[in-house]
Amino acid sequence: MTPTPVLEQFGLDAAQTAVVTDVRNIVNDIVLPNVQRWDANDEYPTEAVDALSAAGLFGLVIGKEWGGQGVDLTTYALAIEEACRGWMSLGGIINTHVIVAKMLQQFGTPEQQERYLPRMATGELRAAFSMTEPQGGSDLQAITTTARREGAEWSINGEKMWIANGLRAGLMAVLLKTDPEAQPRSRGVSCMLIEKTPMEYSFGGLEIPPLIKKLGYNGIDSARMTIKDHKVPAESILGGTDALGHGFRQMLWGVEIGRLNVAMRGVGTARRALELALTYAGEREAFGQKLREIQAIRFKLADMATKIEYARLLTVHAARIKQLGGRADVETGMAKLTATEICQEVVLEALRIHAAVGYIAGAEIGRLYRDAPMILIGEGTSEIQKMLIGNGLLGRWDREEELKTTG
Ligand SMILES: Cc1cc2nc3c(=O)[nH]c(=O)nc-3n(C[C@H](O)[C@H](O)[C@H](O)COP(=O)(O)OP(=O)(O)OC[C@H]3O[C@@H](n4cnc5c(N)ncnc54)[C@H](O)[C@@H]3O)c2cc1C
Repeated sequence: MTPTPVLEQFGLDAAQTAVVTDVRNIVNDIVLPNVQRWDANDEYPTEAVDALSAAGLFGLVIGKEWGGQGVDLTTYALAIEEACRGWMSLGGIINTHVIVAKMLQQFGTPEQQERYLPRMATGELRAAFSMTEPQGGSDLQAITTTARREGAEWSINGEKMWIANGLRAGLMAVLLKTDPEAQPRSRGVSCMLIEKTPMEYSFGGLEIPPLIKKLGYNGIDSARMTIKDHKVPAESILGGTDALGHGFRQMLWGVEIGRLNVAMRGVGTARRALELALTYAGEREAFGQKLREIQAIRFKLADMATKIEYARLLTVHAARIKQLGGRADVETGMAKLTATEICQEVVLEALRIHAAVGYIAGAEIGRLYRDAPMILIGEGTSEIQKMLIGNGLLGRWDREEELKTTG
């Protein structure tokens, strides 16, 4: 293996390889020379986003009939690895847009697809995905934002938190309760498509307070939003009124696409950490030799490379399963859990190899160290992934056992 994946080994054809290579080139030419400044200023990476948009990244997974490139999730995942080798925040900027685009293609009515997908394919319209509320993100069925039917409209009240791209988005897929009394709770939850003007802090009943300042993962807007008597048309339920109460299932389907993205953020970030460690270990001397000649350091590098390869393979495997169209909760959960924990370990090892030099403010490895924990949280924490994997495992085991007895 090499730190840089050989794309043909993943079965990519020439067109798919070109997509990923374009992202790799944008990262080398535009992102890596500027990322430390963007991070330090918490600056939106307009130049990089424009270049990625021109390369078609916002329409990557959108079908050709809507003006997108219609590529498969393996190509998408490998493109995200490349983007996040430059900066994890780029993966976040693309992620919610892709989740919503895939949900529209899977569940949207023909009118919803026609209304949104062509503009999403060009990147003119960007989308956000909002489930979390201030009181919690793991127990999603406990959300309290509600939509009440008032004639030909829904009236929405509540509060959302941690909306990635929340300020820049012109469309948000929002999880809310349309029947707060329903049992089980998941049956009372719907996914609403809410339009707004990008970059406006106030729109109808939507108010965005100043953006959340973070430990790392800078540049991307993370928004809180209060919603007071905000009115949307009756047809705003994803999939139409027949899909009322289907929101929980739709969002969980969508979040699996997000888990592929987050897993590949881990792979890209860890790969960059390994590159920095390899470079430094070839420069720094101790005890009369380069660090890379010391076996203890070489073992660390070997472990880091092996873990990255393992995380990438698991994620590509999950992408292939998800590409089949159904649920892939266990596979995407395993990929997300593994790749994000590995990212944390690899970045810390790279920091140790840099030792004091890595601890100087402004060092790239220091930024990776601040960015890495974000992916342990977003799209469900490691504990929640283990819960999902455990539930899926036991469900599959019980079905297998039942089949043995029933034949
Ligand atoms: C930078 C950033 C961007 C984000 N972007 C988005 C976004 O675009 N859209 C969106 O909807 N959300 C987003 N989120 C929110 C994210 O999905 C949630 O933060 C995450 O799901 C965890 O929720 P929480 O932070 O409320 O933790 P909590 O749910 O309060 O959990 C706290 C702790 O308890 C643990 N825990 C909870 N329940 C259990 C259990 N049953 N068993 C074991 N352990 C448990 C958790 O693992 C965690 O360690 C973002 C978060 C961050 C930090």
